[in-house]
Amino acid sequence: MSFVVFVYVFLFVIGLCLGSFLNVLIDRWPNDKSLKGRSHCDYCKKTLGLVDLIPVVSFIVLRGRCRRCHKKLSWQYPLVELGAGLLFVLTFYLFRHYPVSFGQTSFLIDNVIPAEIPFFNLLFIMVLLPFLIAIFMIDLKYSLILDRVIMPVIYLTLGFYVFEVFYYGFRGYHALLLNPLGKYLVGVNNQYFYSLVLRFAQPLIVSLAVGIFVALFFVLLIIISRGRGLGLGDIRLGFWLGLLLGYPKIITGLFLSFFLGGIAAFILLVLRRKKFGETVPLAPFLIIGTYISLFFGNQIITWYMQRFL
Ligand SMILES: [Zn+2]
Repeated sequence: MSFVVFVYVFLFVIGLCLGSFLNVLIDRWPNDKSLKGRSHCDYCKKTLGLVDLIPVVSFIVLRGRCRRCHKKLSWQYPLVELGAGLLFVLTFYLFRHYPVSFGQTSFLIDNVIPAEIPFFNLLFIMVLLPFLIAIFMIDLKYSLILDRVIMPVIYLTLGFYVFEVFYYGFRGYHALLLNPLGKYLVGVNNQYFYSLVLRFAQPLIVSLAVGIFVALFFVLLIIISRGRGLGLGDIRLGFWLGLLLGYPKIITGLFLSFFLGGIAAFILLVLRRKKFGETVPLAPFLIIGTYISLFFGNQIITWYMQRFL
């Protein structure tokens, strides 16, 4: 088995297990229950043994029913597990074949491209995936965006950006010391490291501004719709999406989200699953739009400009 195949299989299994853990979180956190304690059947309260907790496999073996009371288990369990596994595999595939950058950082890559940066990006995106699934599922199920899910993602993203800025600064500084002219420049200006960091921090400030802009856009939406269906959680999510995608990818991200959300609302209306004026949770569509835009945002914009402008 080649190394790449091994990584795919490894990521799939990791995704399945994380999906299993996310199912517990999705069921418990919106109801203010602790993550501690074993899972049990919703109907007969029987504690589930280890054989009942193998992702997807247990569901198939038990034919979707509880071992003791034979009541039907929710499809959420195998779907989230399988979805998480496939999402990890898909993300690694896309990461290998398409360029990915976060916020405005793509603008500074031509200056210094440390070989480690793609690895950091991959690690960062893999850490984000479980949060994306949690936000997606909790909003879908409860029409809720929990602070304890969205706030860590915002801090994580800011932390990653600050790390990147100092890392670029550090690498740039040491690259300079390797040649005589650079060494001279650094000697003349002993604040050179900080001036580098400051220069690399500028894209971060732009990303922050894009985040604030999207947050304000959501505030405007809430005022126009008189608060129906949207709340503080959506404003926070909007801020994060702006921070993550930066400009111009945020344009395709938001456009795709509202486009897909509109289609879904229309289908639900036609199928009479929703009445006119009822709301459809927005976060799942924002997550899908953001994910597509993260990998294809720049290509979509280039395609659109060549075709229509
Ligand atoms: Zn049971």
